[in-house]
Amino acid sequence: MYGWRGKRIRFDLTKGKWEVEETPYEYRRKWLGGRGYNSEVLYNEVGPDVDPFSPNNLAMLGVGPLSGTFGPSTGRVTVTAKSPLTGGFGDSNMGGHWGAELKFAGYEQIILKGKAPKPSYIWIDDDKIEIRDASHIWGKFPRDADRIIKEELGDKDIHIVTIGPAGENLVRFACTFNDCYRAAGRTGHGAVIGSKNIKAIAVRGTGGVKIADPEKFYQITSDWRKTMRTDPMAQGLYAYGSLVLIMPCNYEMGWFPWKNLKYGYHPDARNISGEVWAKKHLKGKEGCFSCAIVCGIHSEIRDGKYAGEYTGGPEYEACVPTGPRVGIIDSNECLHGAVLTNNYGMDAIEAGASISWAMECWEKGYLTAKDTGGLELNWGDAEVVDKLLRMMAYREGFGDILAEGPTIAAKKLGVGEDCLVSTRGMSLPGDDPRGLGFGYGLSFAVGTRGGCDHLRSLCCLELSGYLYPGLNEKIVGTEACSKPLVTDGKAKMVWWEEHHKAFVDCLQVCCFNTHWSYGCRNEHLIPMLNAVTGLDFTEEECLTIGERIYNLERAYWSRQLSGKNDDVVPRRFTHEPMPENPAASSGKVLPIDEMLPDYYKLRQYEPETGFPGDKRLRELGLAYVAEELKPYREKYIAREKQKKAKKKDKE
Ligand code: SF4
Repeated sequence: MYGWRGKRIRFDLTKGKWEVEETPYEYRRKWLGGRGYNSEVLYNEVGPDVDPFSPNNLAMLGVGPLSGTFGPSTGRVTVTAKSPLTGGFGDSNMGGHWGAELKFAGYEQIILKGKAPKPSYIWIDDDKIEIRDASHIWGKFPRDADRIIKEELGDKDIHIVTIGPAGENLVRFACTFNDCYRAAGRTGHGAVIGSKNIKAIAVRGTGGVKIADPEKFYQITSDWRKTMRTDPMAQGLYAYGSLVLIMPCNYEMGWFPWKNLKYGYHPDARNISGEVWAKKHLKGKEGCFSCAIVCGIHSEIRDGKYAGEYTGGPEYEACVPTGPRVGIIDSNECLHGAVLTNNYGMDAIEAGASISWAMECWEKGYLTAKDTGGLELNWGDAEVVDKLLRMMAYREGFGDILAEGPTIAAKKLGVGEDCLVSTRGMSLPGDDPRGLGFGYGLSFAVGTRGGCDHLRSLCCLELSGYLYPGLNEKIVGTEACSKPLVTDGKAKMVWWEEHHKAFVDCLQVCCFNTHWSYGCRNEHLIPMLNAVTGLDFTEEECLTIGERIYNLERAYWSRQLSGKNDDVVPRRFTHEPMPENPAASSGKVLPIDEMLPDYYKLRQYEPETGFPGDKRLRELGLAYVAEELKPYREKYIAREKQKKAKKKDKE
């Protein structure tokens, strides 16, 4: 077997046992790896009635056929579980070196089921596997747990996945790290791992990955790396990390996420730009396994009351949530917020969104000191943000309700629905489609995990397609769609990107090579897949695999009666024109209804329910899913009729 190692480990934590399973050829060809494997298992083994914190939920980590090769930027890992934040399909992915190490140890996937009787960590040393006591590291920050385990196992070169205190305390947006700072941030799988009493998964692998055609592989790898050295987007990412976005996002396009995305511009945004950051905070650079770009930064605070603090990152999406999103524009304070979210092990986006939601509720008078235990939640109050981050991580006082995430908090408190900036229960990142682009807005509405972000269901042909003349013409059929604030071609753009991203996530290639920048395209990816595996994948087959995965994830939501009713974006984007500013977004709203019908047609979704169409499911080899959805379709239609009748009665 070339490429794959063809094995996965299935843990039953309740019994303290595990089994190594083989993945047959047909399975590998149909689901490829990483996201494909995880999505397939989640759909088939975690049904709509499973509570995300029940031992019957699964937490999975998956890598693909290119992982562990020196193919550029092939070091990512997909982490998947039923989400405690949304109650639906949840996944997220991270860089680092752990994914390659898992492959060296001989596996493509780890599946965790059940609940260990006490805090534990898993140690995989090639084919020697142990579940070990973790009482001494329970409560530790990820980087401290990482250090202690390495000392204990006497090997500083092993790679470790960890959760932080937030995961142990079942904060619904706790995340999963590897190599201390590489986070799979979204959907709360850190809390699912915590609910299973697992603190960490340490791996050492000494095997390799067999490559079918080494000469061809070497030639593609060299060409890919050469392309990246001159790629304009990759160069920006190397120089400044994803903070490279701050200047264009604020001063040209106007999607700077100021105060819960009420505004898209701030005159002092350059305070946290990549250019200023490099002078003021940059401590070092770090790339993931075999990376061709190296966007990773480490940052430190050199003056003021937090002098001496440091962390890996932050990237754009970890810097802005506890910064501009809550009304803070000082870079020391932004970095301090990122240090805390990393230490506690929380998704920075959702943590910042919880606080900014509460601050807007405070501003509007929906929340008072009675609700907050005496805290005043004024925009820009860095001390309050510092306190709330800790209170959320340890579920103390008002932090306990914010640890549920803003969507659940709004329901529980019965206030502030109009202040939510979320889809399908998960908060949107610091990307406002009124300035960033209408395609992004569409992808936020329809994405298969809610609250989509820069690593998932994104619409990057809109962000950087213009840097690659002819690319949009080739893929979408028109260059007009390269402009962000138009609707032309956006449905097709999103549809194609969703398939393509799902395919790339099976290979676990970093999308900064394949979507943010389009330096690496299918012309590299597919020949590389074939050189590694010795098989004969075509572009059509690879995109069909992506479409299969996408439809399966959508069907996961359908089974929970979530369909057309949830294909919406926050009211803010459709009904509140972007406040006046000197950038392109001034006065814009998102015309979502102009794009949705075309998108439904391309996807062949049922117009009444938004469920994946029966015929397309069968064509994709998902006949069993088509059969399974039938009763759910009836239930969905009956429920929607009831809702309509109730509404009519009220009128
Ligand atoms: S571009 Fe950045 S995130 Fe992607 S693999 Fe390289 S270092 Fe990791």
